[in-house]
Amino acid sequence: MSITTTTRIVPFHVPSLDEREIAAVREVIESGWLTTGPKAKKLEQEFATYVGARHAVAVNSCTAALHLALEAIGLQEGDEVLVPTLTFAATAETVLYFKARPVLVDSEPESFNVDPNRLERAITPRTRAMIPVHFAGQPCEMDQILEIARVHRLRVVEDAAHAFPAFYKSRMIGTLGDITCFSFYATKTITTGEGGMATTECPEYAERMRIMSLHGISKDAWKRYTLEGSWRYEILSPGFKYNLTDLQAALGLVQLSKCNSLWARRAVLADRYTEALAPLEVFETPRVRPEVQHAWHLYVLLVKPDTLRINRDQLIEHLKQRGISTSVHFIPLHTHPYYRENFGYRPGDFPVVDDYFERCISLPLYPAMTDEDQESVIQALADIASQFRR
Ligand SMILES: *Cc1c(COP(=O)(O)O)cnc(C)c1O
Repeated sequence: MSITTTTRIVPFHVPSLDEREIAAVREVIESGWLTTGPKAKKLEQEFATYVGARHAVAVNSCTAALHLALEAIGLQEGDEVLVPTLTFAATAETVLYFKARPVLVDSEPESFNVDPNRLERAITPRTRAMIPVHFAGQPCEMDQILEIARVHRLRVVEDAAHAFPAFYKSRMIGTLGDITCFSFYATKTITTGEGGMATTECPEYAERMRIMSLHGISKDAWKRYTLEGSWRYEILSPGFKYNLTDLQAALGLVQLSKCNSLWARRAVLADRYTEALAPLEVFETPRVRPEVQHAWHLYVLLVKPDTLRINRDQLIEHLKQRGISTSVHFIPLHTHPYYRENFGYRPGDFPVVDDYFERCISLPLYPAMTDEDQESVIQALADIASQFRR
């Protein structure tokens, strides 16, 4: 029996929850008010303050926030919305809810965010909006994107599911576009299990999203069961059921209060990965633009096929055998059957993302990851690199 080869299991993600979240949820349970109420209000206020946004609307997912944002800007059937092909299903599917068309756009080969030049070339007279995604937590080239939007009179709804907290130049993500949508899904940088937030500077967008998030009924509908509220309400529009519960908001308030230290730990781990993995010369490490603060939701490594004899899929298998879970973000939208069949996209249509997708692997990265966990990931990658180097 060997004592030197004990395998350390490193999961892809572990949430950072402790006694404080448990106490906060317990308090809500004991209060007797479980659904949207004072905690959700407080989370909206504290999130808006943290980001520096005028308005924040709490909802039950980032997908819901995207849907409400597109509704608020008045997206119509037949409109076109520019969406990066390198994103999650939600970004484009919410456009399809309106019978509008998501027009997919390739990335630029440094940050793998949507390429602003290709974005501009994809504009037609039907284009109404664009949804830049701050991929992995690195902000997009927002000055260029906002300028294109201004010139062509397009709305900008940002998918910031990965980008809390993140800065573009000295401005925080959540204050730049018309509406910014955040995710509090279980694996995101702060979590409520499921949840999301939309921020905006525009009071009309905020009001519309608030009303539509709860059946399109008049303001503060959630108060109708309190002494302060009234039983009387008016349906202004056929809305949705997208409200965030107080159980979730209580979790979110604790997570928000910890977000600086959660981010700092992610940043330390990301720097350590780069410092250890770049010298192996068989991987490309993430390139971070000097003018941004990266949220480090994901740490994506790219295999260099000219120096490594195994491909990305084989690398995932070798890591798995060593107890290390990884993932792939994302399978590009244009390669999925729905988009191929309905829009005629083909592999090769998006050369930057096609090449990226062949080579990308997301490493475990979360604040609860210990230095020992990270060392075993690095050691495994170093072993594999020396075994399969060309
Ligand atoms: C996770 C994610 C979403 C959806 O977030 P939910 O809160 O799960 O709805 C949207 N866009 C991107 C890029 C994501 O990664």
